[in-house]
Amino acid sequence: MSWDLLILLLLIGAIWGSFLNVCIHRIPLEESIVRPRSRCPGCRHTIAWHDNIPILSWLILRARCRHCQQPISPVYPLVELITALLTVSTLYRFGLTPTGVALTALGYALITLTMIDFHHYILPDVITLPGIAIGLLLTVLPGTAPPLASWQNGLIGVTAGGGGLWLFGWIFQKITGKEGMGLGDVKLTAMLGAWLGWQALPLTIFGAAVIGSVVGIGWILLSGRDRSLPIPFGPYLALAAWGYLHLGPAIYGWYLGRSLAWF
Ligand SMILES: [Zn+2]
Repeated sequence: MSWDLLILLLLIGAIWGSFLNVCIHRIPLEESIVRPRSRCPGCRHTIAWHDNIPILSWLILRARCRHCQQPISPVYPLVELITALLTVSTLYRFGLTPTGVALTALGYALITLTMIDFHHYILPDVITLPGIAIGLLLTVLPGTAPPLASWQNGLIGVTAGGGGLWLFGWIFQKITGKEGMGLGDVKLTAMLGAWLGWQALPLTIFGAAVIGSVVGIGWILLSGRDRSLPIPFGPYLALAAWGYLHLGPAIYGWYLGRSLAWF
């Protein structure tokens, strides 16, 4: 991949990140993601295009609204930066192919779901349900290849994955008496199963449980966070799925003592 292309993909990724910011803020409020143009949440001034350039505007404006001087959250440029890096790394790894583009789109959905879940403790159906359908559709489209699932593995992923996590949550609830798993988590797992196949799910769920426990315990210890508050699980599912995407065959292969290709 040439440097020109790399920089172009970074720019395109940052612009997509800007759009994901809109989705992250408006979808939980059930607002249109197309109109109206972005406004300052403080003074409701419409943001001019030159104050809405991904990452750069935040730096130039020194993290403050031009009109009311209210601070602008660093989460905005952070989402843009993460989206840009995800775009480049995914297309670099899986190529400028239908599979690479599809996996980049999956990454965008996961970034959006992660940020919404952190903030609102929900994983909106308007993302996960079409996500399941699109994932299954991709399995039968010509030109798609592993690590996207075959249609058999995708279908098993949706049913066994969604059902398996539901069961996991049910057992967790029986043991701890707390609701451990929302239906949103079940639908997100089904979505990951549709895209990446059932083979992705054991490592993804196990990885998410480990990451979630470490982060959750750290959070309670460091910030004195109330332990009765819910801990979102979606972000850890998303993160673990992304880890699987890059390391899955290596981890399974190490476990089985031989090298593996994608399933
Ligand atoms: Zn303002």
